[in-house]
Amino acid sequence: MLWSDFPKWGHWLADWAARYHTGLRDRPVRAQVQPGETLAALPATPPEAPQPIAQVIEDFERIVMPGITHWQHPRFFAYFPSNASPAAILADQIATVMAPQCMLWQTSPAATEMETRMMEWLRHAVGLPETFAGVIQDSASSATLAAVLTMRERALNWQGNAAGLSGQPRLRIYCSPEAHSSIDRAIWVAGIGQENLVRVPLAPGPMRAMCPNALAAAIEADLAAGHRPAGLIACTGATGMGACDDVAALCAIAQRFGLYTHVDAAWAGSAMICPEFRSLWAGVEMADSVVFNPHKWLGTQFDLSAHFIRSPADLTRTLAIQPEYLKTHGADGVINYSEWSVPLGRRFRALKLWFLLRAYGLEGLRQMIRNHVAWAQSLAQRLQAVPDIELVTQPILSLFTFRFCPAGANPEAATLDLITQINNDGRIYLTQTRVDDRFVIRFQAGQFDCTQADINTAYDVITEIADKIRKG
Ligand SMILES: *Cc1c(COP(=O)(O)O)cnc(C)c1O
Repeated sequence: MLWSDFPKWGHWLADWAARYHTGLRDRPVRAQVQPGETLAALPATPPEAPQPIAQVIEDFERIVMPGITHWQHPRFFAYFPSNASPAAILADQIATVMAPQCMLWQTSPAATEMETRMMEWLRHAVGLPETFAGVIQDSASSATLAAVLTMRERALNWQGNAAGLSGQPRLRIYCSPEAHSSIDRAIWVAGIGQENLVRVPLAPGPMRAMCPNALAAAIEADLAAGHRPAGLIACTGATGMGACDDVAALCAIAQRFGLYTHVDAAWAGSAMICPEFRSLWAGVEMADSVVFNPHKWLGTQFDLSAHFIRSPADLTRTLAIQPEYLKTHGADGVINYSEWSVPLGRRFRALKLWFLLRAYGLEGLRQMIRNHVAWAQSLAQRLQAVPDIELVTQPILSLFTFRFCPAGANPEAATLDLITQINNDGRIYLTQTRVDDRFVIRFQAGQFDCTQADINTAYDVITEIADKIRKG
């Protein structure tokens, strides 16, 4: 394919994209293929001779499309959203066309300076104080890893990178049982060890928050045992059912013991553009590090994770490394964002945030999030009134959980049956989790193009399939 062919296929793509997105309601949300189907349709070896793009595209439609789960489907109610707004898609296409590698200021000054300004815009949008500086990470997992590495280095008096961990006291990091698996992996990768991730018990209550007294007791017990408490990870809107820790109470304790604090608000952080939801992370200004994902709810498709830190110097002291080939002579005082993250290479991600925020405005994005929250809450109320459906957790923002308990049936088996049949039906897509020992179905509203009518369809599908199962 030559550049002279590009306009033709570029036009094809633009038409296809609009048709795809506006026609999604006619497709099943979750891919309905069997394991191995796509693999079997792909030849075992690559072609020797060039093939026409027209043929590749034909095969794409035939082989790939049936195996796609449509995350942009308005009735995607599974996991969390991974929204791709048209404006952000357009910006990402532009970034891909230029394909700059934005690791250093001088490898594209506009990308670095756009990133600085966009993180200031986001900080303003979610009401974080100006004491935070922001950087775009590829994922919340990467941001959490960077925070955990900073905890480690700080607790070891900046000797961990140089000397390794052997012979050092055991570092201890605290989080809730509701915290995300990316935290376990950060602990593994940082060499701290799973056994040193302390899952502090929950306090009673609907938010399933970590018990502050239990945190203080765990830190004191570790100190008495000669261990070294290094950090706290609090969650705002955990993945299972949206658990929210009491960030203010936990940070106050952590600070008393000199711990580095990180708040994982990967999903819920986007909702903080609406001031009325900010009570969920009250005290966040006390944290050292905060992450949330505009690539989840806001509409800048993967990858765009917003990482705010109080002390960039601690982060770069942990991660910056300057071999001669990365030095930027004669450009003093500029920011090289690759020193703020584990990967060196970086895409021009800030561009899609700029397009998003300008194309919809904060008011437009707030309206979307407020709709999702209100619709999820009214759906939860309607489902609560349906016989044999038990709401297990009330909505936190736009996420709630429920299970199916028809008389005489095992609730776990009945709930599994319900979700399996719903996802095979294809009109909506839901996923499951556990709340204590209960197997539950999660429902979250959050897709960019979702409407009230899509929520009504969810109610119809859930109740229709539950009825069918009840009647055997
Ligand atoms: C989605 C999620 C993550 C992981 O986000 P990635 O950007 O995919 O790494 C971490 N924490 C929470 C609470 C999440 O919901």
